[in-house]
Amino acid sequence: MVSTRKTLRLLVTLQDLDLMIRESHDPASKGEEEDMGFELKNVETLQTARTKLAEQIGPRWLGVYERVARRYGRAVVPVQERICLGCFVTLPTSIAHKNLEDPEITVCENCGRILYWL
Ligand SMILES: [Zn+2]
Repeated sequence: MVSTRKTLRLLVTLQDLDLMIRESHDPASKGEEEDMGFELKNVETLQTARTKLAEQIGPRWLGVYERVARRYGRAVVPVQERICLGCFVTLPTSIAHKNLEDPEITVCENCGRILYWL
């Protein structure tokens, strides 16, 4: 069983990977001088890393992540001063407090994004 903190870290990494994969598919972000073969190989490496990460995260949180990512693009967002930086709604004290004492993965009640505390 993977710990909560580790799962959260994996989710943040997954989000980074997804961003990198998306960028590598975007022609505008590709350098003109880049060799296409090299580029494809990089995407493959990223995809392999993503598959491994997804396995470690497990179906429950991966499901939440995929659903929110499809909706917003960015599924994991930081919380600062009790404000969800995804939708800018102030979280109830109970959630912010709960997370500090018992670090379980929390989802924003307003937007559904996965939250992590800075
Ligand atoms: Zn939110």
